[in-house]
Amino acid sequence: MNGLIDSYERKIDYLRISITDRCNLRCVYCMPAEGIELAESSAILRYEELLRVARIAVSRGVTKMRITGGEPLVRKGIVEFVTDLSSLKGLKDLSLTTNGVLLQEFAPRLKEAGLKRVNVSLDSLKRDRFLKITRGDNLNQVLAGLEEARKVGLTPVKVNMVVIKGFNDDEIIDFAMMSKTKPYHIRFIEYMPFNASEGWQKDKCIPARELKEMIERVEPLEPVTDLTGGAGPARRFRFRGAPGEVGFISPVSEHFCGSCNRLRLTSDGKIRMCLFSDDEVDIRNALRDGSPDKVIEDLLFKAVMSKPMRHHINDNVFKNCSRTMSLIGG
Ligand code: SAM
Ligand code: SF4
Repeated sequence: MNGLIDSYERKIDYLRISITDRCNLRCVYCMPAEGIELAESSAILRYEELLRVARIAVSRGVTKMRITGGEPLVRKGIVEFVTDLSSLKGLKDLSLTTNGVLLQEFAPRLKEAGLKRVNVSLDSLKRDRFLKITRGDNLNQVLAGLEEARKVGLTPVKVNMVVIKGFNDDEIIDFAMMSKTKPYHIRFIEYMPFNASEGWQKDKCIPARELKEMIERVEPLEPVTDLTGGAGPARRFRFRGAPGEVGFISPVSEHFCGSCNRLRLTSDGKIRMCLFSDDEVDIRNALRDGSPDKVIEDLLFKAVMSKPMRHHINDNVFKNCSRTMSLIGG
């Protein structure tokens, strides 16, 4: 079997599938409050189309998948889709990224359907601020969702916090300390430039190195040496004796492009080779014009071969991505 290897010898074995551009929140850095242009529903790939791409990708060596959006839990039929994906032979890891609002309700069924784990986005533990960031008053639901996910075994439960200077950076220690009482993996993510993050300025993005120093002024962190569950882009640590972990993801300050193993499939049927590049390969036409699997497979190879060596966030030539994260599938 020819696997998906790009022109820089990176093995591509991870596919992130965005199943919707809809969302039940409107995070300030991701979506405008009103007037977001949503795709026509006919433009969104049907589950059987998504599944077909997934099956072909797995036959070419993809072993890891993540379902994302928009908010994946708002799309009808998500549990059945997870059941279908998880039965693909060769797929070893299936996870989902969610804002957590509907997680308490869905966690047991998702687990039963074969989902392995979840990443939950949470940027504030304060009700007022949560409301300001997400434009939704759902903090308690998200916290209940986290607990339910842990209880049913969608583990490790990862909590992703996007840190924005002057906005929620005073909560870094509170988030880190959560890993001492809960087995959650708290991951601090650098604020990235996308279309909706109009106010993005480099100085609002705190480099992961500084975040770690801030935490270590309170209590030292030890590196996690047992990398079961995959190394991924996060640098992983824990407080001595803590059940949870603290991790740092630094796409802006220290890119990890050299080991990037992923492709993204957007909900409207484009393959994106890099989160920060607007280059896309359309796959929807081929899915709908009766093309055989070989054509879809060739499009996957074409996308992989045009994957850029690295992103250019820190170069002067960089412009914000024209799609928001909700459209790309974060
Ligand atoms: N709705 C789900 C959620 O919020 O987890 C899944 C999709 S969301 C687009 C995926 C991730 O992208 C979230 O963790 C969100 O915080 C992150 N994200 C969106 N815009 C971002 C930005 N400008 N910088 C960093 N992360 C961002
Ligand atoms: Fe919705 Fe997730 Fe974007 Fe927030 S980050 S608006 S929850 S898609």
